[in-house]
Amino acid sequence: MKTEELRDEIKKIIEGDVSLEEADIEHYARDTSLFYVRPRLVVFPKHKDDVQKLVQFVADKKANGEDITLTARAAGTCMTGGPLTESIVFDATKYMNHVTEVTDTYAVSEPGVFYRDFEPKTLEKGWIMPSYPASRELAAIGGIICNNSGGEKTLVYGKTENFVKEMEVVYANGETDTLKSLTKEELEAKMKEQNEGGRIHRELYELINANYDTIMQAKPTVSKNSSGYLLWNVYNKETGTFNMPKLITGSQGTLAMMTRATITGIVPKKHRRMLVVFIPSTARLGEIVPALLKHEPETMESYDDHTFKMALKFFKDIAIRMGGSFVSLGLSFLPEFWMVLTGGVPKIILMAEFAGDSEEEVTAQRDKAYEDMKQFNLRMRKTQSDQESKKYWTFRRESFALLRKRLQGLRTAPVIDDICVHPRDLPEFLPKLETIFAQPKYSSLIYTVAGHMGDANFHIVPLVNIHEEGIVQTLHQLMDEVYGLVVEYKGSISAEHNDGLLRTPYLPKMFNQETITLFEKVKDIFDPKGIFNPRKKVHGDMEYSFSKVDRK
Ligand SMILES: Cc1cc2nc3c(=O)[nH]c(=O)nc-3n(C[C@H](O)[C@H](O)[C@H](O)COP(=O)(O)OP(=O)(O)OC[C@H]3O[C@@H](n4cnc5c(N)ncnc54)[C@H](O)[C@@H]3O)c2cc1C
Repeated sequence: MKTEELRDEIKKIIEGDVSLEEADIEHYARDTSLFYVRPRLVVFPKHKDDVQKLVQFVADKKANGEDITLTARAAGTCMTGGPLTESIVFDATKYMNHVTEVTDTYAVSEPGVFYRDFEPKTLEKGWIMPSYPASRELAAIGGIICNNSGGEKTLVYGKTENFVKEMEVVYANGETDTLKSLTKEELEAKMKEQNEGGRIHRELYELINANYDTIMQAKPTVSKNSSGYLLWNVYNKETGTFNMPKLITGSQGTLAMMTRATITGIVPKKHRRMLVVFIPSTARLGEIVPALLKHEPETMESYDDHTFKMALKFFKDIAIRMGGSFVSLGLSFLPEFWMVLTGGVPKIILMAEFAGDSEEEVTAQRDKAYEDMKQFNLRMRKTQSDQESKKYWTFRRESFALLRKRLQGLRTAPVIDDICVHPRDLPEFLPKLETIFAQPKYSSLIYTVAGHMGDANFHIVPLVNIHEEGIVQTLHQLMDEVYGLVVEYKGSISAEHNDGLLRTPYLPKMFNQETITLFEKVKDIFDPKGIFNPRKKVHGDMEYSFSKVDRK
């Protein structure tokens, strides 16, 4: 079928827009990953009914032999190629961007609501969803949920999976359902329903129940993981509860399309104080991090010397992001400029923020940590105001955005962007990681390291000349070696950014064949004809993915 005919047919059945404009195709060919995949056409649904009709349409065409699939997109900031497709993509941010209800304990949101618009609404009621990602100014609810994102506050509150109470979805046959955690009795009633929701609950329950031990053994033991289908979170054999939203969360739109979510959160602490630790080398990081974690900071984030220097280079942009007077900001950055001038830039800047309900409480907590950390004989700073802390936060949050400025023709290659191990393993893990990077074949790679140090979750992003001969093979080798090491320490190859085109081919490194087969069965239960977001989460194809590297 010609794409123009496809467009015209879809236009007839939905109220939203359908585009074949070159500017749209080009825009939706990218997220923030390494890939470039041109969609066939772009749809902007107006509401749930449009999504439902679109799914039904795609399912019918597929049944009639058309080579067609459907991929959902929110803000398109995924670093793994999650929302990229050669077929149809729909973008929820244009119309499906309403928060329809906000109460003191929950909010109901469409998938296209940007987090930057969502948080002010929940804050009016005194709470936030604390799992927002570092891309909080860019990302939207659909992607945050379907990637199971995490962020700075995940250390204490966990990832997005903890805050999705209810979810409205469209299944691959076009039927809709509302998913929530079910008690044993509710599950039994649900499984008796003679509809798609009933079938899926029945088959999924049978699969999990029959393979319970395998699934529990496959569960990564690190504090954060987005890799694979999160099957271990669904069924609790002891209580009998069955929580389907926990499976759809993080499934990258491969099982069902999400059209609405009921989101909960936490009441943020009123006061914060930060301790900044400047660490000259990674040698003792494995001792420093656990020592600081004992003081129970709310967040423990980090960035490295490359990020730090880049932030100073782009100081003007940083200052604009922070708001306020240019002169006073310039003055507040003086110590940092001085560090660069005197060659005293630390390798790692570690930010531990302590939160509580009174200023005295947090200051005391922070000062206690400061006294304890003196044992390491490091340079430290106690921030005196929220504005001073904001400076460090902006450096951290903007670290990847800064990198994307394509310095001297180099571009970011997020290929080992989200590894996670247990903090107790850092003393052994980090030197081995450094040994990998020290090999001559990687000597030309400039890379930055930022991350959620409290969870031992590192975002390592090399800057590369994508036109250099052999560079893609080099990145490939780097992935093989780094993921090999992560798996040796029973870590996760993706703590929060998820699998997408990038990591799905690597899942057999992290999970055994039995578990991979279970993932494939899950996909078959939800999407037997394979119409949702192909090559993500299951049936990854390394050759295909790396043929899509963006060389522009
Ligand atoms: C500067 C920067 C910093 C980042 N920091 C973090 C971080 O700290 N933590 C983190 O977790 N991630 C981070 N990311 C990655 C990314 O921003 C997050 O994963 C984000 O939550 C993705 O949201 P999005 O709206 O851009 O989703 P998209 O990229 O649009 O989509 C993500 C996935 O969700 C699926 N999806 C979207 N909407 C739906 C729907 N309605 N139904 C079904 N499936 C859907 C898509 O198909 C895709 O697979 C960062 C990215 C950047 C650029």
